[in-house]
Amino acid sequence: MAIKDLIDHSPKRRSFLKTIAAGAAGALIPAAAAPARPTQTYPSAQAAHPAAIRKNDMVYRRLGRTGLYVSEISLGGSPLPDERLLFQLIERGINYIDTSDSYENGNCERKVGRLFKAVGRDKIFIHARFHLQGPWTEASLIASVEGSLRRLATDYTDVLGIHGLEKAEHLTDERILGAFEKLRAQGKCRFRGLTCHVNQHAVIPKAVESGLYDMVQIGYNVFDIQETEKEVKTYSDYLGESGIRKLIDLAHGRDVGITAMKVLKVGGRRQDVAADKTEGTTIYQAMLKWALENEKLSAVVTEILNDQEMKEDLDVVGRPLTTKERQMLHAHVAANAGSTCHLCGLCQAACPAGIRTADISRCLAYFESYGKRSRARAEYAKLRPAASGCRDCRACERACPYGISVRERTRRAQGMLA
Ligand code: SF4
Ligand code: SF4
Repeated sequence: MAIKDLIDHSPKRRSFLKTIAAGAAGALIPAAAAPARPTQTYPSAQAAHPAAIRKNDMVYRRLGRTGLYVSEISLGGSPLPDERLLFQLIERGINYIDTSDSYENGNCERKVGRLFKAVGRDKIFIHARFHLQGPWTEASLIASVEGSLRRLATDYTDVLGIHGLEKAEHLTDERILGAFEKLRAQGKCRFRGLTCHVNQHAVIPKAVESGLYDMVQIGYNVFDIQETEKEVKTYSDYLGESGIRKLIDLAHGRDVGITAMKVLKVGGRRQDVAADKTEGTTIYQAMLKWALENEKLSAVVTEILNDQEMKEDLDVVGRPLTTKERQMLHAHVAANAGSTCHLCGLCQAACPAGIRTADISRCLAYFESYGKRSRARAEYAKLRPAASGCRDCRACERACPYGISVRERTRRAQGMLA
């Protein structure tokens, strides 16, 4: 398909695609160089580097100051597909995989390790992570990363991230910074990053402003913007000065790379909403396109588990959202917004009993929407204090800017997951 065929009537998308076209003329995708050991040299100006380049059927976007060019559709590792499909996805141009030792009990990392052996370490960028669970110390974080590297069969990770960071004060915790620095000094990680589901509005601005983090992975989807046919509520309408688009603007302004997860957020399982289609485009494709039209995002990290999902997700590469597809999204949001939790964490912060209502909600989504039943139960079992300690005070519901019936979700989770 020629680049000109990809350009639609959206001025914003058009200019981005022109940039891609310019990059496609001769730019090469930077390979993962030998692990840049401790001292990173960052590109001095964004303007000197194209925002995106196209090679074959994939568009690669610059991951902020890491300077890595990552496939705009990238792969989440919880879970990864079988190895046949994984190889095919790499052949189709995906070059960035999100891994964690908690995914598939370490088997996600082992699978990526076998992939490295088969296709070469330099063909894929990875974002490996450590968890802040239990009585963690600098030494335990380092040991955890070393375990991940062994399973990954590599001696370095491109990005090393904190998994599911919720507390902004941890951004500058000496144990964490010490672990990062020791691992970087040994050439075991190239860049620092983090993922954040809950409390993004508090964590991300501080991560960006600290200057310590090269990339962040956030939850971002059409429900977070509450875009409907009648109105587009901006971030400031419901998350104050720290709303989601503002977070993205902030990170981009400081050349911090941003990837998006939880983009495919629907009120049911992926296969159950195939009826939501327009002009041959599924609701999932529309959601992916909607996220990717924000050119400040480097990639959407998504799970692809079968041939149909591969086709569905890779078919959106370089293709803008059409007017009709946007209308389909508006209708979907209007029909489902009332029951969609955004994992903002505000209910959890308001609970006098410390009940982790946002995490409970996330576990419920794993169980009901993503079909990840054992992971949902395992993560639910770790949450403290237990939901049974609820005092029925409704503070969580008063705090929820989306009017979600938090207590009902919590009770449902207790019934299904306990
Ligand atoms: S109703 Fe229960 S979960 Fe909600 S804030 Fe009160 S104690 Fe916490
Ligand atoms: S229930 Fe409401 S306040 Fe709680 S995480 Fe979800 S959207 Fe945020």
